[in-house]
Amino acid sequence: MTTRRPLIAGNWKMFKTSAEAVEAALRLAGHIASEKETDVMITPPFTALEAVAKAVSGTRLLLGAQNVHWENQGAYTGEISPLMLAAIGCRHVIIGHSERRLYFGETDETVQKKIGAAVDAGLFPVMCVGETGEERKSGKTFSTLDKQILNGLKGFVSDRAETLVIAYEPVWAIGTGETATPEQAQGVHAHLRGLIEKTFGKKIAGSIRILYGGSVKPANIKNLMDMPDIDGALVGGASLDPDIFAEIACYQSR
Ligand code: PEP
Repeated sequence: MTTRRPLIAGNWKMFKTSAEAVEAALRLAGHIASEKETDVMITPPFTALEAVAKAVSGTRLLLGAQNVHWENQGAYTGEISPLMLAAIGCRHVIIGHSERRLYFGETDETVQKKIGAAVDAGLFPVMCVGETGEERKSGKTFSTLDKQILNGLKGFVSDRAETLVIAYEPVWAIGTGETATPEQAQGVHAHLRGLIEKTFGKKIAGSIRILYGGSVKPANIKNLMDMPDIDGALVGGASLDPDIFAEIACYQSR
């Protein structure tokens, strides 16, 4: 079991209108009101962020975005800046999700720029890393992850490292129903924590939260959270229904 404060985060992807997002967020906030030992966060689409921020203000529910640009303003049609997110009450931002790497040309270099800009604006980045099924089969899991982490965090200064959350999301487990076993995930999380220790030192490695993501459900969250280096979860599909997501978020009291 983790010694860090667990974080259960929901990635709503391109689902829910603003009105639907507000309704789901309020229902979820009600469910988690007495769950004081776990941080719970949702990341609605951009169009719903401000309405949800207002609706859940004063509740325990934390708010994040799913992406961000690396400049605070400029001629970047269609983009949203870190300052804009911070101004409406976003605290976290997901950066480098595998869907953005796969469909929208996100690279370790853009991830690195976005992380720096997010931290400068006072946001907490949730940096996603993960290997594909091919990479796992050919024994390249750790080398793939090391490259993503070291390139994505190039130049990142250690006195900001406690604002960082890492999400290990094996690409083969996202939206597939296939979950890494708790032992498989623990092996990778321990490796990543070791890499963070080498890069940023023991203190940061001991406090940084590493989430697991990939087909997390009410039925598997407890076994995952029993592992010492799994500090929470990034949940896609199962976060869309607030009743189901609340079962995951409130795993400690079930
Ligand atoms: C995700 O997209 O971050 C994710 C983990 O999705 P799912 O839970 O649906 O596998």
